[in-house]
Amino acid sequence: AVEKNEFILYYQPQIELVSGRLVGFEALIRWQHPERGLLAPGRFIPLAEESDLIVAIGDWVTREACRQNAAWQRAGLPALPVSVNLSARQLRDRALVANVRDVLKNAALEPRYIEFELTESMLMENASTPANTIAELAEDGVSFAIDDFGTGYSNLGYLQRFPLHRLKLDQSFIRGITSNHRDAAIVRAVLSLAQNLGLKVLAEGVETSEQLAFLRAEGCQEIQGYLISHPLPAEKFAAMLASTAPL
Ligand code: C2E
Ligand code: MG
Ligand code: MG
Repeated sequence: AVEKNEFILYYQPQIELVSGRLVGFEALIRWQHPERGLLAPGRFIPLAEESDLIVAIGDWVTREACRQNAAWQRAGLPALPVSVNLSARQLRDRALVANVRDVLKNAALEPRYIEFELTESMLMENASTPANTIAELAEDGVSFAIDDFGTGYSNLGYLQRFPLHRLKLDQSFIRGITSNHRDAAIVRAVLSLAQNLGLKVLAEGVETSEQLAFLRAEGCQEIQGYLISHPLPAEKFAAMLASTAPL
């Protein structure tokens, strides 16, 4: 699929609650399969992650996301960071730092316009490569977020050890915030933890205005979810960027 150019990226907006402004967007891969149609990442990413195939796919995602973001900026659209999901093998890949620098240089994109999403388990591994890789890229100005926060190992030491910018609170907690007092308690606790550590929190999978109201009242900074928009193909997302109507 990499060789045949069958992968495409969809983009989902991220909104800041205080201002209602678009503050970034996540790149989400799809496979335009010749016979089976548009395949969601859940159908092929876990398989690719079992081998080094994920490194080639991940490199393509980073390159395409940066190319597209730079092209939008050159076209006069608002300059915003693009979030790219990183897999464990990519983070362990010794060539990652050099590759990312090369991609940014080729795209003529400033490092502050890319953020990598990592999962908790990737920071739990005791290897020094991930720590060095993250430190080097962060030094360049690249941002890092924790994806699906709350679903991994809850060893919170890494929140201090790594230069992180935000936590993406997993949608499994958001789903129940207005009906389940345990989910509400977890969300409140994460918001307070993040606030004390100086990290922003983005709530993932926000689908209803009740969830939005709860998150706003509890001081969550950012949201992403179907309530705002589904992930969109590039042309549709560009139209949204061009209008950037506040919430
Ligand atoms: P993720 O990074 O946590 O991405 C969020 C997923 O939630 C996306 O699914 C998105 O479409 C979905 N979503 C967004 N808003 C809502 C909502 O309001 N309700 C619900 N029910 N779902 C919502 P998607 O695109 O199918 O991606 C699934 C996962 O596949 C991603 O989870 C990520 O872990 C992985 N993935 C996607 N693209 C890449 C990639 O380029 N590289 C790697 N390594 N993984 C990727
Ligand atoms: Mg993600
Ligand atoms: Mg997530």
